[in-house]
Amino acid sequence: MFESIVQASEAHRQSAHQMVGSLKMALKGCPECRTSQMIASPSLGLCDDCGSGLVALPRE
Ligand SMILES: [Zn+2]
Repeated sequence: MFESIVQASEAHRQSAHQMVGSLKMALKGCPECRTSQMIASPSLGLCDDCGSGLVALPRE
């Protein structure tokens, strides 16, 4: 049982690393204006138009 926990932890660590890598190519968007743009910085920032917090969009 302990061994399976270690494997799950390792898988989680690898997926987290992949998320960091894909974030560079991800899109962020405004949920209010429904606009999207490339994420060019570590922080998502706020929408220029309405001031809502931008959210990271899943890649499709
Ligand atoms: Zn907006």
